[in-house]
Amino acid sequence: MSKSTFIDFRAVKREVTMVQVLEHYGLMSQMKQNGDSITGACPIHEGNGNTAFRVSISKNCWNCFSTCGCGGNVLDFVAKKERVSLPKAARLLVEWFNLKIEAPEGEKDSPRQEKSDSRVRDKKPMKREAEKSAAPEDEKSENKPLGFVLKDLQTEHPYLAERRLFPETVQTFGLGFCQKGMHAGRIVIPIHNPKGELVAYAGRWPGDTDKEKYLFPKGFKKSLELFNLDRAGKEPSDKPLVIVEGFFDCMMLHQHGCRKVIALMGSSLSPAQEGLIRKQTDSNSHVIVMLDEDEAGQNAREEIAGRLAKFCFVKVHLFEEPGTQPEHLSFEEVQDLIGGAS
Ligand SMILES: [Zn+2]
Repeated sequence: MSKSTFIDFRAVKREVTMVQVLEHYGLMSQMKQNGDSITGACPIHEGNGNTAFRVSISKNCWNCFSTCGCGGNVLDFVAKKERVSLPKAARLLVEWFNLKIEAPEGEKDSPRQEKSDSRVRDKKPMKREAEKSAAPEDEKSENKPLGFVLKDLQTEHPYLAERRLFPETVQTFGLGFCQKGMHAGRIVIPIHNPKGELVAYAGRWPGDTDKEKYLFPKGFKKSLELFNLDRAGKEPSDKPLVIVEGFFDCMMLHQHGCRKVIALMGSSLSPAQEGLIRKQTDSNSHVIVMLDEDEAGQNAREEIAGRLAKFCFVKVHLFEEPGTQPEHLSFEEVQDLIGGAS
């Protein structure tokens, strides 16, 4: 069984003001308020400069123009002050201010609350510009479409049955056992770009040996693609986009009726992948980050959720059992997660 613990970052940001946070730390008495702005010594790096730290009340954000050289919202402030991750900061704020915003399992967010969140939206164009100019070179390169298609793939390999994939799923994703070329002896998984063009085959070694688990063609950059984005992108915009790590997590959720699902092909989100998700979403979109319940997944999901929360609603799915992966979810659990049949 799994349990969903959802943290709605934007609800936290909406409910708590910077003034409340400063009061919580007993810092307001050391600050000077002048109209919309509050200035004082930076409580994070604890310097002496009396104007290093600035808060905009209307924008509900802060900046340190000295040592920190950064700023952000209430979550960023608490995360920096407590030296914790953004989800942990969100949980602290929920606790300190007794917020009633953590949705229980399967419960949807209130659309009414989301619509009123203009503060966050107002800040967006500026942030987008800033982030665009900081986009790394990586984002500009691309994987060229493959000039060929692998033929004669065996679609009834025992490994596919072992992974509990139905023949329809195998067909949808175009999987098969390959007997020739670099992927000989492997299950190949076609990877498409957002336009649906085939850009590579991943080769999964069927079984546990000391062979490399996955093989990718030389020159292929998986950091530039999101597995299944071409299909997931065609799903209705009001459905949540589920982000998982692996091919099989993705295919299994799809098989269970969660069609709007993409895989990172690893446990990190590259800037290019973040850009692709940004193109797929707007400020009303919901994203569910559902990584493996292991150390890598636990570490990565907090950072990924924080980055995505800048432009859409993010929920983090946690599994109760250590070691659980999305592909272990039952049909019913997946249905609960996405809120009914799709
Ligand atoms: Zn500072």
